[in-house]
Amino acid sequence: MPTLDKLNFSNRYTSLPAFFYRPVTPSPIPDAYLLHFNHSAAKLADIALDPESCNITDLLCGNALPTGAEAIATLYAGHQFGQYVPQLGDGRAILLGGIEHEGNYWELQLKGAGTTPYSRNGDGRAVLRSSIREYLCSEAMHGLGIPTTRALSLIGSSLPVYRESVETAAIVMRMSPSFIRFGSFEIFFHRNQPEAIRTLADYTIQHHYAELRDTADKYPRFLQAVVASTAKLMAQWQSVGFAHGVMNTDNMSILGLTLDYGPFGFLDHYDPHFICNHSDHAGRYAFDQQPDVAAWNLTRLAQALSPLMSTEDAKAALGIYPAVFASTYIDIMCAKLGLSADKSRIPLIMQLLDILHKNRVDYTIFMRKLSDFDSASDAINAPLRDLFTDRSAFDTWAITYRNLLNASKSNDNERALTMRRVNPKYILRNYLAENAIIAARDHNDTSEIERLMQVLQQPYDEHPGMETYAAPPPDWAQHISVSCSS
Ligand code: AMP
Ligand code: MG
Repeated sequence: MPTLDKLNFSNRYTSLPAFFYRPVTPSPIPDAYLLHFNHSAAKLADIALDPESCNITDLLCGNALPTGAEAIATLYAGHQFGQYVPQLGDGRAILLGGIEHEGNYWELQLKGAGTTPYSRNGDGRAVLRSSIREYLCSEAMHGLGIPTTRALSLIGSSLPVYRESVETAAIVMRMSPSFIRFGSFEIFFHRNQPEAIRTLADYTIQHHYAELRDTADKYPRFLQAVVASTAKLMAQWQSVGFAHGVMNTDNMSILGLTLDYGPFGFLDHYDPHFICNHSDHAGRYAFDQQPDVAAWNLTRLAQALSPLMSTEDAKAALGIYPAVFASTYIDIMCAKLGLSADKSRIPLIMQLLDILHKNRVDYTIFMRKLSDFDSASDAINAPLRDLFTDRSAFDTWAITYRNLLNASKSNDNERALTMRRVNPKYILRNYLAENAIIAARDHNDTSEIERLMQVLQQPYDEHPGMETYAAPPPDWAQHISVSCSS
């Protein structure tokens, strides 16, 4: 395995016309220190962490650049809270290039390494708090089996960063096959540069949708592929209780990955109207709005790609969204209930979500405990039942559920095993991230990050001795406020 200083870097984004990006130099940070290195992500690109290598920390924060890296900031625009913003771009992300390993290409990007030509009024920095959250959550999502960008390392610094209060800077080295967003296409539509749209579409197809390369109708198929992967991603978010918080089109990955972690949140008690972003006063990005918002964002992408296809083709591509979303969501929810996938289960799912909501039952805890549901006719299922204030609501639902299990000749022990593989025990609740932030920031203690990484990377396993990480939020957690200022 090569160490970071010996990697074979190349930046293929620079094969695009020069107006797609701007060369940048990361701004050095003082007193850089390594908070965490993600060995499992490193393996993907065959990167070794050599403790003997004196400049490893510098390489992971942009104080030094690996050989072959070409640092750039990429250009994009986007619809933010419904409004088109003509120029965004990487204001605090710097793409170094990528590494090819076992047929996969992994781009490495520094987040928070200083200003770029697209920083507008921003300082190009990310604070330690939000960097820890992104670092942990991207790994948590990966552990849950949800497509996401990854995180290779987390570096801290003494550099002060001014938000509502003075904080310190941190840098996450992100990894992804690509960081191209819907907004990367939108900017050229709104600037009336159809050739640039074609160039970027060809580049994306060539590298990421290669199976479409030689098809006659490759552009409509490309759009359709993005529609499908986005619909599947939304079904996964909804089934695990993840709210992104800022689903602007510049935060929507062209590969259907979860991208740009900010004020995200996982549901504790089941609340469809959950708003994780405290700056989102109107609830545009509330939990239950996400599937519709993604569909709206896809229409913005379709508009950007309109010079490449007929209106009918664009409509047909967008038209598959509801069915792909619904069938994926039903499949996942049926698996979570230990039932074979079938549309006829929809009322059972809806009734369950309704009573979880009305009784403020913790979604993750309930679903995990449901793995141990006893389908005997006289069983009370007290551990589940006691989660409800209205116990009769649970009893009524449980009768229907039991009947369905019995009708499908489901074996309790076997079902428990398969259900535990789809109902996570551990999710990144806000208070868990907060504890890790406080320990690292105020006590220089990264052991909490390490422990969280262990449970979140294998969230379906039991992890004896770590049960407290599966506990519902303590009262103080209600006062944690997350917003866009990160
Ligand atoms: P976000 O919603 O965090 O993904 O950011 C939206 C836009 O603002 C993107 O173009 C970011 O690069 C930019 N941005 C966010 N924070 C900063 C910052 N501290 N400095 C410079 N640009 C930023
Ligand atoms: Mg963003």
